[in-house]
Amino acid sequence: MPQKASVYQRYFNAEHDMIRQTVHRFVQKEIAPFVDEWEEAGEFTCRVAAKMNAGLDQVKEIPMAKNFACQVSNFATYEAVQIFGGYGCMREYLVERLYRDNRILSIGGGTTEIMKEIIGKRLFG
Ligand SMILES: Cc1cc2nc3c(=O)[nH]c(=O)nc-3n(C[C@H](O)[C@H](O)[C@H](O)COP(=O)(O)OP(=O)(O)OC[C@H]3O[C@@H](n4cnc5c(N)ncnc54)[C@H](O)[C@@H]3O)c2cc1C
Repeated sequence: MPQKASVYQRYFNAEHDMIRQTVHRFVQKEIAPFVDEWEEAGEFTCRVAAKMNAGLDQVKEIPMAKNFACQVSNFATYEAVQIFGGYGCMREYLVERLYRDNRILSIGGGTTEIMKEIIGKRLFG
């Protein structure tokens, strides 16, 4: 019995190592490149909100922050579905819902096109 347990333990450890390496590689290649953009979008939005609260004119920066955050979110949800493959298109999987719900972000509260119009008016009058 202890022999069997030790064989099983070695098998389990090897398998565990393989899973850990796979997850590590996946995070490095697929997730890490987006993290800086998520951080930037959050930082930019918070900075604009703080300036707005301080009474500064942020009419140009607000749509810029919204469009940038939407762009990052579009990319992240697109990639999430891509990583899941066919499962990513099935309702049983959360990424399908996230991808679908994400679409409203570029529409509600002012569409991306209208945001660009506001930015353009501020830049060029
Ligand atoms: C699920 C859901 C929840 C919502 N919740 C709310 C809410 O809580 N509060 C609220 O106020 N509203 C809400 N809305 C409405 C939302 O704000 C509007 O859908 C949004 O403002 C876009 O308006 P529209 O749907 O009439 O699209 P339209 O104005 O008909 O636009 C259609 C397309 O044409 C483009 N377009 C329109 N005009 C121009 C232009 N001049 N130049 C270039 N492109 C243009 C748009 O960018 C868009 O791509 C919600 C909508 C949905 C679907």
